[in-house]
Amino acid sequence: MTVVVLPGDGIGPEVMREALRALEIVAPDLELEEHPFGAQAIRLTGDSLPEKTLAACKASEAVLKGPIGDPEFDAAEVRPEQGMLRLRAELDVYANLRPSKQGQVDILIVRELVGGLYFGARGVREDGTVYDTMEYRPDQVERIARRAFELARGRRRKVVSVDKANVLETSRMWRRVVTEVAAGYSDVELEHMLVDNAAMQLVLATGQFDVLVTENMFGDILSDLAASLTGGIGLAPSASLSDSGPGLFEPVHGSAPDIAGQGVANPMAMMLSTALMLEHGLNRPEDAGRLRAAAWTTHEAGEGLGTAAFGDAVLQALS
Ligand code: NAD
Repeated sequence: MTVVVLPGDGIGPEVMREALRALEIVAPDLELEEHPFGAQAIRLTGDSLPEKTLAACKASEAVLKGPIGDPEFDAAEVRPEQGMLRLRAELDVYANLRPSKQGQVDILIVRELVGGLYFGARGVREDGTVYDTMEYRPDQVERIARRAFELARGRRRKVVSVDKANVLETSRMWRRVVTEVAAGYSDVELEHMLVDNAAMQLVLATGQFDVLVTENMFGDILSDLAASLTGGIGLAPSASLSDSGPGLFEPVHGSAPDIAGQGVANPMAMMLSTALMLEHGLNRPEDAGRLRAAAWTTHEAGEGLGTAAFGDAVLQALS
């Protein structure tokens, strides 16, 4: 099994190093292949997602990605983030899983990742009006809904579908298609919720949620909100899955240029992303459980540890 490793920028290589040390213990048989991506790749090749990197990702079993981004390229024509949107689209990883867990709270946000407002037509009209459009085809909604119901079956069997059906046409179609999909999952409870209410409910009554499924931008915002309720983005992992090709596994946080190179970045989110890869990308739930348990044990005991010391403690917990 080949895993493509994209260490990324800023703290990316630092947190990736610790995740790989742990991965080599729980899954020593995996073949790891490292490729440039992001600002690092722009410096080397002029492109944030070089052809060779993309080809390797497509041929792999799973892609393990560190954060990318560098202030040096913020105003440049070629930016690291462009490669990221392209990689997601090329791999067709339409289902973005964002679990957050702490105490009584155990939520899984399933965000549509390759459609909606971030991928619709955009531009500038002659009169200076600037527009972005939210577009969905019913089959795009159907596949993300199906994925959410399948995932709910492995959890507490409750799906909340989040939309803005009182205003948006796309949301009315979204609601209709999700309801149709739900008919095939009579063992899973479905509730529809407007996105503004969902934001409020997440803060006021977090414990009511199991699986939430939603549009790309709504999911972007709500999943950061959910992460902030459960320990912050330094702990938040993500998995992005397609129907048949390799999945993409990455922490939610960015490249943290403010602390890069200081050895203080928390590798927890990168380690939990690695566990998600073992579970959802490589179908190795036991290895995932082992890594996740060691990471949480270290997290609970290891307040204030630097990056490498955290990694050492995880290795110790694994031995
Ligand atoms: P950020 O997540 O990089 O940093 C926000 C704050 O959180 C900073 O103070 C940072 O020090 C802290 N932080 C983040 N991760 C941490 C960790 N593991 N341990 C300890 N502290 C941590 O967000 P930003 O500053 O808005 O963005 C920086 C760069 O990252 C930008 O170029 C942005 O485009 C990029 N970015 C990339 C991704 C990705 O690759 N998926 C996601 C978000 C942002």
